[in-house]
Amino acid sequence: MDCIFCKIINGEIPSKKIYEDDMVYAFYDINPEAPVHFLVIPKKHIKSANYINNENSKYISHIFEIINKLASELNIDKAGYRVVNNCGVDGGQTVEHLHFHVLGGRELKWPPG
Ligand code: 5GP
Ligand code: ZN
Repeated sequence: MDCIFCKIINGEIPSKKIYEDDMVYAFYDINPEAPVHFLVIPKKHIKSANYINNENSKYISHIFEIINKLASELNIDKAGYRVVNNCGVDGGQTVEHLHFHVLGGRELKWPPG
């Protein structure tokens, strides 16, 4: 499948990996928007949040367990951080493989643009 995040998971495209298990892969964003900016993705190709369903939602709960663990390991848990999912064109999604951004290490503004 011609998906850059599937290629990152299978090693065809190099990445700065933070964590991996049988369900998820976490790696630093190539274009960081904060001192800490990584992405957590399911190893199963799910196109966007629109495609989360009863069959695959176990990936989502696991992703959030891993976000929690990695935020603690990278020392952004106490100060706080933001988890972002961009969905579809208006949401600003540019890669059509479900991913959660985790941003921390600075105070983030709200609302987003
Ligand atoms: P989106 O805009 O779809 O929510 O986020 C896609 C993110 O993936 C962007 O923040 C972009 O910097 C990141 N990205 C795109 N291609 C690559 C890549 O090849 N490697 C890494 N590490 N990040 C990527
Ligand atoms: Zn994919």
